[in-house]
Amino acid sequence: MKRTFKHLETKVVRAGEPSPRIEGAVAMPIFQSAMFEYAGETSYHDLKYIRLNNTPTHVALHAKLAAMENGEAALVAASGMAAISTTLLTVLTPGDHLLAQNCLYGGTHDFLTTEFAQLGIETDFIDADDPETWQQLLRPATRAIYVESLTNPLLQVADLEAVVRFARTHGLVSMIDNTFTSPVNFRPLERGFDLSLHSCTKYLNGHSDIVAGAVIGSTSWIDRITHRLNHLGGSLDPHACFLLDRGLKTLVVRVRHQNESALQIAQRLERHPAIARVNYAGLESHPRHQRARNLFAGFSGMLSFELQGGADAAERFIKQTTLPIIAPSLGGPETLLTRPSLTSHAGMNPEERRKLGISDGLIRMSVGLEATEEIIEDLLLALDGVAAVARGA
Ligand code: PLP
Repeated sequence: MKRTFKHLETKVVRAGEPSPRIEGAVAMPIFQSAMFEYAGETSYHDLKYIRLNNTPTHVALHAKLAAMENGEAALVAASGMAAISTTLLTVLTPGDHLLAQNCLYGGTHDFLTTEFAQLGIETDFIDADDPETWQQLLRPATRAIYVESLTNPLLQVADLEAVVRFARTHGLVSMIDNTFTSPVNFRPLERGFDLSLHSCTKYLNGHSDIVAGAVIGSTSWIDRITHRLNHLGGSLDPHACFLLDRGLKTLVVRVRHQNESALQIAQRLERHPAIARVNYAGLESHPRHQRARNLFAGFSGMLSFELQGGADAAERFIKQTTLPIIAPSLGGPETLLTRPSLTSHAGMNPEERRKLGISDGLIRMSVGLEATEEIIEDLLLALDGVAAVARGA
């Protein structure tokens, strides 16, 4: 019988390992073989082939991811968007209707408003903080509700418990993108969500060197999503599976460090006179801080902020920093800064961005694994520089 493990710290290192070990290998080997000898399989989906997501490297990784979020099963995909689009295309078919949070990752938002609309699947966007308004958007064709655990880039915390209750009451499939929190801070299936999605490109891999995605849920949902992915073809290659498995082993220590570091950085930024607003769920000033405390074990390494002086000040600040790298994406060892209006949310029209509160001057920060004091020092120097220009000094 396969050994099971109780704690996340142990699961990220040991869950999913083949027993007995393959040739005694301590690290799960890469099976870089497109196909495997026919062994009497009776279903197309069981033939061993990389696109069918079932090489030994995939199987071990799926078991680890499922164990990490206490799901029955998991599936990895070639990117976060491959996992998200394939899952949505499994749960919803033409004629169906979706309720989705209004402040979503730009790629997901674009997918829903363009591709989904072209397929005849309609979406209504909801204020996920205001459950009273959801009922009036329900239709007989509504099949699912889709939210993010911490929103990108404003770090809002939706009423996730109400989302689960609403889905159960109305027979909807509840889906959540858990990328920003990671299983270290939040495990959605334990709170009643049906499907948890990840861009593993971010915290789960954690090394800024692959793109990958995952979905975790019941065996019946994961089987259906796997068959859809087998047809759509967005499979993760075995070498990326190996890298993801290697990255997962340090997930807990990385994310806990990033949680602590981001909290200190958010507190220091909030006190600086050149700063107009800091969005971080761990700050007492965050409008849903108490809810975040009840839901999450930590508040992630993600924060966003605005300077007094808007977009011009933001640009000057970014130019004056020397430690963060100016790049989109998140969750890796390097501290990154980006302006969402120019990157992750550039596809959204400016009016929509304004309505959601994503100003042109908003800066998003992914806190890396560098020394916290060194990051803070660099940010404060850059802020002092911007403040001096504003004073005409
Ligand atoms: N979900 C969130 C919250 C993201 O931030 C991203 C990418 O930035 C994605 C999904 C898409 O992931 P990927 O780039 O791996 O396709």
